Amino acid sequence: MDEPAKSEPTGQPDQSTAAAPAEGQAGEGATGESRKIAVLTSGGDAQGMNAVVRAVVRTALHEDAVPYAVMEGWKGAVEGGSFIRKMTWSDVSGILNEGGTAIGTARCEAFRERDGMRKAVRNLVAEGIDRVVAIGGDGSLTGADELRAQWSGLLDELVDRGEVTREQADAHPRLHLAGVVGSIDNDLVGSDMTVGTDSALHRIIEAIDAISSTAASHQRTFVVEVMGRRCGYLALMSAIAGGCDYVFIPELPPEEGWEGRMCEKLREGRAAGRRDSIIVVAEGAQDRQGNPITAKLVQEAIQDRLGEDVRITSLGHVQRGGTPSAYDRWMSTILGYTAALEMVHAGEGDEPCIVGTRRNRVVRLRLMEAIRETRAVKGYLSSGDYEAAVDSRGPGFRGMLDVFETMSMPVEIHRGHIATPDGRPPRVAVMHAGGLAPGMDPAAKAAVRLGLDRGFTMLGVVGGFPGLLDGELRELTWADVDSWAGSGGAHLGTHRSVPAIDQYYALGREIEKNQIDALMVIGGFTGYLAALHMVEEKNRYPAFDLPIVCVPASIDNNLPGAELSIGVDTALNNNAEVIDRIKQSAAANHRCFVAEAMGRRCGYLTLMSGIVTGAEQVYLSENGISLSQLSEDAARIVKAFEGGRDLYLVIANEEASDYYTTDMLTKIFEAESRGLYDVRPAVLGHMQQGGNPSPFDRTLAVRLANYAIGELSRQFEKGKRDGVFVGLSDGQIKVQRLTHMDELIDLKTRLPVDPWWRGLEEILYTVADKDFDKKLDMPAVYEAD
Ligand code: ADP
Repeated sequence: MDEPAKSEPTGQPDQSTAAAPAEGQAGEGATGESRKIAVLTSGGDAQGMNAVVRAVVRTALHEDAVPYAVMEGWKGAVEGGSFIRKMTWSDVSGILNEGGTAIGTARCEAFRERDGMRKAVRNLVAEGIDRVVAIGGDGSLTGADELRAQWSGLLDELVDRGEVTREQADAHPRLHLAGVVGSIDNDLVGSDMTVGTDSALHRIIEAIDAISSTAASHQRTFVVEVMGRRCGYLALMSAIAGGCDYVFIPELPPEEGWEGRMCEKLREGRAAGRRDSIIVVAEGAQDRQGNPITAKLVQEAIQDRLGEDVRITSLGHVQRGGTPSAYDRWMSTILGYTAALEMVHAGEGDEPCIVGTRRNRVVRLRLMEAIRETRAVKGYLSSGDYEAAVDSRGPGFRGMLDVFETMSMPVEIHRGHIATPDGRPPRVAVMHAGGLAPGMDPAAKAAVRLGLDRGFTMLGVVGGFPGLLDGELRELTWADVDSWAGSGGAHLGTHRSVPAIDQYYALGREIEKNQIDALMVIGGFTGYLAALHMVEEKNRYPAFDLPIVCVPASIDNNLPGAELSIGVDTALNNNAEVIDRIKQSAAANHRCFVAEAMGRRCGYLTLMSGIVTGAEQVYLSENGISLSQLSEDAARIVKAFEGGRDLYLVIANEEASDYYTTDMLTKIFEAESRGLYDVRPAVLGHMQQGGNPSPFDRTLAVRLANYAIGELSRQFEKGKRDGVFVGLSDGQIKVQRLTHMDELIDLKTRLPVDPWWRGLEEILYTVADKDFDKKLDMPAVYEAD
């Protein structure tokens, strides 16, 4: 957690560093203290920029470099003086959970001119800065690269003009540059997500959920306009996550006559039982002639043809506002950390890069190539090359376009022709098992609609395996699952219990009686275990010899072959919200909080909750807790409060230790407090599982359910009867056999063997603990192909 008192930057350059560095102190050979790294935010603001800035500043400090902020983006570089400020640890305190950017952003016309750029070079070199982390959109990063390209020529001019000495110029012969894309539009080609996009989706989904309830009450139609001038990511993902009916995106303009087709689809939806209709329009949507498709145009088309009352909601700047989502805090922290290390270690010949994300990992992209490809999309759109425009968004985007089209189609087309050997459509039972995970409903909805589209008969089992044993199942139609896109909880119910051996016969009987041809288990560890037992027992119980596919849904994030399970992102957002409040209350009272997070023995939720809330300390069951460590930790807490701190946050995993429980930790820290502060426990409990699923969990649910249905189709077609699980592995959805589960997870401790997130502990302490002195390894960064 950060110190609460955000000390204001002095506004004055630090005189000790403003002077030109002595020969040999800076430049390519510079090490330690003499490396000066500036961070700036430019162009449109985006939630999560603060997390990047905080991570850059603190990682630089950890590495004995000197961090600077260039206030107000490139304008600050051009103006110089108090716009370029040396940053301290506490200058970035208390900003992690704030939207916008604490160091200001602006658009600056002067920076586009040579004169302005020359001034920027002069001002940066005067401070001894030749390493910059620039956070902004493609415009800001183009400007950054332009500055880099012109740097040495401008330095020569400055020497000729007597504004920079030859020694200064020689000490900083080139600009080292790392870009981080801050843009809610998610329009950078080559990076899966940009800083701010996930938070914008949160704002849009909050609005769509609210609109859905009023629209359903009045049977109304709403047109929702979202941002995205050239990129339809926000529109498409919010249409999927919001369970909407129609979407218009810039990359795929509809063919002539779209008004009639849209109205026909809406009419069919009503006939199929939908109570609300929501159409999402990206601000850059257009038709094939390049004419804008505005929310107004859509409204008129529906009113004219269907005579319905249509309301428009234009979300505008609401999408940029509010607190950053959990993802925009943790991923932005990783990006800032990585970008700072890139700059610390930058040397001669290094190319400017963008530190982005691909498949849930940090990726290094060549800056100008990424910008060029991003800008090329505009050309594809104006030349009518829509295939290229859609392709530029990656294969996942096209897949989601198809999925949206299928799921929103109100008639059961039954495109598939798969039949069982006795000639009827396969009957697929969908069920949950294990603890509740937010996102189970959207996963079940996607499974039902996509299964119907394949020609399957879809059955819903109510109440997990006990429900199946009791024959509690019913056929589900397209309309039955209509309202499940964003609901928390689980309409089908879930249960933790696994069938016992003496129930196998009865289980087999129910499967046969209900003619179940395949089983889809959307749930957690116990669900996987039950499915594995069925596979292992299929020789003895022939009814178990059927395709079984498990879909990971658990806030514990402890499932094999699943880097992220459905539900864990929502739990993390829930924790961020509650802990933000706890921090507020604690700061007023000189208090240390020991918060307890769920996850059973898996530390993912605890560690990530720590990163997204700025906790100083996390206790993970993977590490255990020792008495000597507690003694050191207690001393550190005392030192922090003695140093003027008025709050301290510790997060412990619920099963971090059998002995040192949350209660015990609280007492130990209180006992050592010497009256300086008090200590309170905060068990986050079941609120972690509650609430509507986050946009990420909804879209992940749809992607995984789609893959699982595809897997069942493949098995039916090939006459296979395998027990498998699907999940994100190395950022891609893969299918693996249940019988290999024990290679990926320790079945006794229920812990994944090699979790991808363990290295992130180092990042947490680097950005949250001033005294963390461990030598850092460069995080794994994928090179773009
Ligand atoms: P974004 O970074 O969000 O795309 P803009 O395109 O408005 O926002 O760019 C922000 C700022 O970046 C501009 O005001 C300007 O200072 C700088 N910039 C943008 N494009 C260039 C360019 N081609 N050359 C130099 N500077 C640029």
